[in-house]
Amino acid sequence: MAGNGVAPLAPGGTIGILGGGQLGRMTALAAARLGYRVHVFCPEPDSPTAQVSAAATVGPYTDAAALARFAAAVDVATFEFENIPLAAVRAVAERVCLRPGLAALQIAQDRLREKDFLAGIGIPTTAYRGVGGAVALAAAVADMGGPCVLKTVRMGYDGKGQVRIDDAASASAAWSEMGSDSGIVEALVDFACEVSVVLARGADGRIARYVPVENRHVDHILATTVVPAALSPDVQERAGVIAERIAEALDLVGLLATEMFVTRDGAVLVNEIAPRPHNSGHWTIDACAVSQFEQLVRAVCGLTLGAPERHADAVMENLIGDAVMRWPDLIADPAARLHLYGKAEVRPGRKMGHVTRLVSRR
Ligand code: AMP
Repeated sequence: MAGNGVAPLAPGGTIGILGGGQLGRMTALAAARLGYRVHVFCPEPDSPTAQVSAAATVGPYTDAAALARFAAAVDVATFEFENIPLAAVRAVAERVCLRPGLAALQIAQDRLREKDFLAGIGIPTTAYRGVGGAVALAAAVADMGGPCVLKTVRMGYDGKGQVRIDDAASASAAWSEMGSDSGIVEALVDFACEVSVVLARGADGRIARYVPVENRHVDHILATTVVPAALSPDVQERAGVIAERIAEALDLVGLLATEMFVTRDGAVLVNEIAPRPHNSGHWTIDACAVSQFEQLVRAVCGLTLGAPERHADAVMENLIGDAVMRWPDLIADPAARLHLYGKAEVRPGRKMGHVTRLVSRR
């Protein structure tokens, strides 16, 4: 079962979330505010999501019996990150309504399939090729010309498994460094800025779209989101329309984040998509009447979506690794809205929390 044709789930029902990170945690908090219960499934005990959920199943994603028990205990299910093994998600989708459905997840899990899907629906991306070895990589780089980025096809996030490659001669070293047996090589985009559009699509097909935001990365990890992105109205609209077209082509019910490059001449190229809550949408908790997390709850439960308009501009800063130690100062700052994820261990590169500052629109 998936998608449409399922009766709305009234408050009091139980939403199952596959994955136990901060995205699940903030979804669970939004669900609780609307009177729903959350049951999380993830391998780690005491996960950020489990800490704020009514129930948790802790087990590996390969535990078929545990997945079946989880599916039997929930009324509807969703997932909070895309690297959950597809077989686990399928096992749940066979038993209970899963939103978004498997198709969106399958595409987002595989960078090559994702780019092919986008090309197939006429959405512009940077030039790319699938490559299965160093020789094919060298040929692709020579053919594409100019600097490229080699990425793993699967399991890549926050720049993991990515190698810049300047010429065909360095293909062999780049291939070994990537450390996977399937890659995608992309022409490096000389972008003016990186933006994203987060939208929700309801079971009735209606879309609630947040304003495009600018994302600034440090070491390939999102550091800051500036709301709104400083784009001309025309580019802003094109970015929004691209995101809507993707959601419609996927027949997605839930959230979709579309990450894009805006080039210096105003072209909008899609980098990647994520059919789940997104770090670049965290600002919506503090600056909008209805956050991305509440929209997800509404969509998976088959309810009407809320208004995506913002009541303030905002700057969201991630607290990565040791930066979380600044929490006493942030707590004391009346302009800062602090969100901590309940992660006991601080590790370099680990997202520990975020802080949003609202900026008056007048
Ligand atoms: P990704 O994991 O694909 O989101 O890549 C992480 C970050 O690496 C992006 O947000 C960009 O800053 C950078 N990046 C990825 N692909 C490209 C590309 N083709 N051209 C330029 N920068 C890129």
